[in-house]
Amino acid sequence: MKNIVIFGAPGSGKGTQSDLLVKKYGFKHISTGDVLRAEIQNGTELGKTAKGFIDQGQLIPDELMIDILASVYDSLCPCEGVIFDGFPRTVPQAEALDKMLSERGTAVSGMLELDVPEEMLMERLIARGKSSGRADDNAETIAKRLTVYHNQTAPLIAWYEAAGKRHSVKGYGALEEINAALCEVIDQF
Ligand code: AMP
Repeated sequence: MKNIVIFGAPGSGKGTQSDLLVKKYGFKHISTGDVLRAEIQNGTELGKTAKGFIDQGQLIPDELMIDILASVYDSLCPCEGVIFDGFPRTVPQAEALDKMLSERGTAVSGMLELDVPEEMLMERLIARGKSSGRADDNAETIAKRLTVYHNQTAPLIAWYEAAGKRHSVKGYGALEEINAALCEVIDQF
């Protein structure tokens, strides 16, 4: 079974590329952002808690996020493969993911990093905000999310590098080219 972490800053294209990979490989897709947005839509307690953090561009606390992730994972797996999109976002989440997978007799196959220059991220997110209707795709919240990314999430690049699992791919240019580069890595797992 393949467990693939798709990694990158907000606006790096994780969701778009995940969709393409799901089509090609038939993997399950776990987007923690989508899970939280569905909870908000359904007006659940979890959704109410999550909304406060999301609207501020902050991360949901690790313990809560880790519990959510495990329950979504168990609802989809065992299966052929999973793409983790938007998780892990902190070192404790990455440690928890390793522990959760090892308890289930499997492991992270690799982390695929979509590398996109900073100035492109803001541009892409503002453009997405015009069509997505996402409350957190406005200039002020985007700036906060990028700061959170640099402070709390980017350290995972070195963390996965140290584990020998980091694969960096150019995350701009034609979608198909980016996708082909990701597939080349996945086919080696
Ligand atoms: P995304 O759709 O991945 O950009 O996530 C949107 C928002 O959901 C983030 O800005 C966070 O507030 C929250 N979120 C999603 N995934 C996580 C996670 N793994 N840990 C903490 N917060 C998360």
